[in-house]
This record gives sequence, C-alpha cells and structure tokens, in this order.
Amino acid sequence: MQIRCPLCHREAAVPDDFAFRPFCSRRCKLADLGNWLDEAYTISTPLFPPDRPYSPDDPDDPDDPDGRGGGVGVH
Ligand SMILES: [Zn+2]
Repeated sequence: MQIRCPLCHREAAVPDDFAFRPFCSRRCKLADLGNWLDEAYTISTPLFPPDRPYSPDDPDDPDDPDGRGGGVGVH
C-alpha cells in the first residue's frame, strides 16, 4: 500500500502488514515516539514531583478495632 509518512512527509510503498505504519520507516516511527514521550515527560513532570512517592495512610486504625470512633453507637 502507498503511505505518506506523517513525520518526513515522504511517500512510500509498504506492505499491508508493515510494522511501522503509518511511518515510512522504523527510524521515523521511533523519532515520532521520541517526540511524543518528550512532550509527555515535559508536561507531567510538574504534576508528579519525585520527592513524595505515593504512600497512603493505613485506612484501618489499629487502636479502634470495633469502629467505635465512627460515631455509629447503637447502644
Ligand atoms: Zn518518514
């Protein structure tokens, strides 16, 4: 099939099961992926500061096994 590479804009004839469609070559596909990852990394970096890894507090309070602290006294 005939494709037009979205990266280098070159037309190329490739097999139907060409692994790097819609790009004309592996190099173009990897280059585009690299650009995309670069952008994603640049955007997400300020959203996920590395100094505070995900660590939720323990939801089960070991000092209150009956759940009395929940305010659901049925006495
Ligand atoms: Zn290309």
